[in-house]
Amino acid sequence: MSDRRVPLVVLGAGPAGVAAARAAVEARVAVVLIDLGARLGGQYHRREPEAFATSAPGALHHGWARWSEDVTHLERSPRFTHVAGAGVWAIQHLADGGMRIATDREDLPSFETDALIIATGANERVVPFPGWDLPGVLTVGGAQALLKGQGMRPGHAVVISGAGPLLLPVAAALARVRTNIVALTDANDPRRWLSGSPRGIPLSKVREGASYLATLARHGVRLRPRTAAIAAHGDGRVEEVVLARLERDWTPIPGSERTVTADALATSHGFVPDIGVAVGLGCLLDAQDASAPAVVVDRSQATSVPGVWAAGEVTGIGGADVAVHEGRVAGLAAALMLGGDVDEDELERAIARRRADAPFLRTLAGVLTVGDGWTSWLTPDTTVCRCEEVTLATIDEAIERRGACDLRSVKLTTRCGMGHCQARICGPSVAALLTARTGQPPADAGALDRRPVLHPVPLGRL
Ligand SMILES: Cc1cc2nc3c(=O)[nH]c(=O)nc-3n(C[C@H](O)[C@H](O)[C@H](O)COP(=O)(O)OP(=O)(O)OC[C@H]3O[C@@H](n4cnc5c(N)ncnc54)[C@H](O)[C@@H]3O)c2cc1C
Repeated sequence: MSDRRVPLVVLGAGPAGVAAARAAVEARVAVVLIDLGARLGGQYHRREPEAFATSAPGALHHGWARWSEDVTHLERSPRFTHVAGAGVWAIQHLADGGMRIATDREDLPSFETDALIIATGANERVVPFPGWDLPGVLTVGGAQALLKGQGMRPGHAVVISGAGPLLLPVAAALARVRTNIVALTDANDPRRWLSGSPRGIPLSKVREGASYLATLARHGVRLRPRTAAIAAHGDGRVEEVVLARLERDWTPIPGSERTVTADALATSHGFVPDIGVAVGLGCLLDAQDASAPAVVVDRSQATSVPGVWAAGEVTGIGGADVAVHEGRVAGLAAALMLGGDVDEDELERAIARRRADAPFLRTLAGVLTVGDGWTSWLTPDTTVCRCEEVTLATIDEAIERRGACDLRSVKLTTRCGMGHCQARICGPSVAALLTARTGQPPADAGALDRRPVLHPVPLGRL
């Protein structure tokens, strides 16, 4: 295996990674940007395959002009290399302070680098409920990926139900392509957005939210607050969805249940930072919320590990604009450390720009909450870990009878998190169940994100 040594690797080609790469390239530092996707974009600017030759590629995207400008600039730079379609499955510290990064691309199996910017984004959080593992139930982001990536609707009669700001853009995009949206529900009350300080919601976000609501109104779709899909039924695939009104903490209000007919249910309940790479490198975590630990960074986005910066949702959920601001700071700070052509005033201005996001982030934190009452949606035979088919009853038995009191013990006792997704889906639910059952958050938050192999690879590569 031959290694190429490069000054800077950026991992993740979403808004944060691309902003970081652009800042570093402009400072005359050579950058290798590695991403699983075939095209730059990450989650926010997910694209259809090039072969689709779409006539209006920006039609389903916000902020397309800025994004296109960044991408064009990068692609023209001789200092920029995009390693597309490459899953990073391991990163090792080297004795000289650098790092070795292993990818699953046969032609580019590994790189050595002096510095790394982690911009791996977030995964969607889905709380389990009876029937969530039926075919036809997918995440809200999954429905969006089908539409943006393949030009397909998830079904003919679709329920969109969950929590958080992703519901509106996805519902509006599906409405625009004339999907029959049977119900659109948010477990929280979106009016909570208005309870923070006015500075907490930038005008651009107000306009964005209003444009989604206007699109939905034009298509006759109404958002039902404090309502959730608490069960799905069907013979071999989803056929019916049970909706219920919720108390503030997401406990269903008895008697409020009603059943609707649907062939698809798009559901998710917020985001969880994708910290696997950072955990493997030993970066310090903020585990205030044991279900969604984030990477700790300083004002210049440096992690606790020398030579490693982090930007975007891996440091906490903040949306695409904040990710861009953080990416720029990380790119400039890394370039400065690497001897690039960085004007320190420019770095300070970028840091100040990021600091100005604080009121918005406070508002977002108040809105992106998952009520504890979701645990009452489950029955003992509800599957919590889908990969290993572990039910609530098995987890409860491990906690209550077998004394499992942290994440690692629950994993070892039940096999939760040992399957293909490696706890990306069930991990936050297991942490929340442990907290609910023991009365305190698990002491080893983040333990399920420790993956010696970060991404599935063929045995031959190992
Ligand atoms: C499914 C989903 C849909 C979303 N849709 C919207 C929306 O419609 N509107 C909105 O405002 N916000 C949306 N968001 C939130 C928005 O995408 C984020 O705010 C923004 O993309 C964060 O940018 P980022 O650069 O931090 O991460 P991302 O855009 O998530 O980019 C992270 C990148 O890292 C790559 N990566 C991670 N691990 C590895 C690895 N081991 N090897 C190689 N590559 C790796 C991923 O492939 C991904 O391309 C969505 C988020 C998700 C998860």
